[in-house]
Amino acid sequence: MKRLLLLILVASLVLGFSAPATVQAVDGLQVLDTSVQVDFPMKVNFGLSVAGAADITDIRLHYTVDRMSHAEVISEVPLKFEPAAQVDAGWTWDMRKTGGLPPGSSVSYWWTVRDAAGGEVETEPAMVRVDDTRYSWRSLSEGLLALYWYEGDEAFARELMDTAQQALVRLASDTGAELESPAEIYIYARSEDLRGAMIFPQEWTGGVAYTRFSTIAIGISPDNLDWGKRAMTHELTHLVIHQVVFNPYNDLPTWLDEGLAMSTEGPLEPVFVNMLVRAINENGFITVRSLSSPFSAYAEESLLAYAQSYSLVDFLINNYGQSRMLELLNTFRQGSGYDEALQKVYGFDMDGLNELWFSYITSKALIR
Ligand SMILES: [Zn+2]
Repeated sequence: MKRLLLLILVASLVLGFSAPATVQAVDGLQVLDTSVQVDFPMKVNFGLSVAGAADITDIRLHYTVDRMSHAEVISEVPLKFEPAAQVDAGWTWDMRKTGGLPPGSSVSYWWTVRDAAGGEVETEPAMVRVDDTRYSWRSLSEGLLALYWYEGDEAFARELMDTAQQALVRLASDTGAELESPAEIYIYARSEDLRGAMIFPQEWTGGVAYTRFSTIAIGISPDNLDWGKRAMTHELTHLVIHQVVFNPYNDLPTWLDEGLAMSTEGPLEPVFVNMLVRAINENGFITVRSLSSPFSAYAEESLLAYAQSYSLVDFLINNYGQSRMLELLNTFRQGSGYDEALQKVYGFDMDGLNELWFSYITSKALIR
């Protein structure tokens, strides 16, 4: 009997189904089996088998995603089925409707069942990990960072880990911002593989930061390692900054978020420098106020937006130092408005920053 049970358990593990979370009997109501199966990145299939003395009338799945949030959000799904004394029911979480989860994320779930006689049963919460099982991942960890990869040797992964660690050091020295909790880096071997991990990938997606999950994913092949290091540094900076300023009230101005990510990458690349030079010559800058909202989708304008963001952050750090930048981030953490935060830390608002930065960038251009 025990052996049979063990065999069933082994079989269910091999099939990728979890063992029953709990088998509970309340007034004859009994959960016979629960199952969960991840079809990354599109779906998670949940199943339940339940029996009772009276007709089962209500089955609900409850689930919650493990991520940074201000209040625990529990989703509740009432299942559709014909009332009966025994019911096998299932529900598919279609990520195309809700947005996807990054690899390595986890979801807690449990079931509640009611019958016509007033019986009620609730299973113990169980956890399912949403992994990208298309690849055999290897891993490397150091400090708060874990790096996962599946193509290339150990030296390739080590080089990326070293780059990530250096990025954290540079960011801390420029801004005082440090990673507060563990972060995961997924290195896909090419951008097509990464796009296969996303629900609605953009054609140009090379890297992505899932800031609320403290996870980044990037497509890096050995022949684009230099680009990959910059992209990883960029996305990692977004993670750190979002951990530092996480608050329920307000987002960061886009220029600050992107400017910090760009400046941690290292010196501005020529394509962006050219955009700045052209904007100086044509007096065609975007205002700091506009740069506080999400950037334009038009390639040329967005290039200039990134270049200007880099330059604004460079201006603030060079002229006012690391401690003010940290103070600015901590002010945003309190949920401050954009003008208020700048005013409090630097003594000027967005328009003031616009003017000061403009004289800084144009005088710098004259010197050059
Ligand atoms: Zn970015």
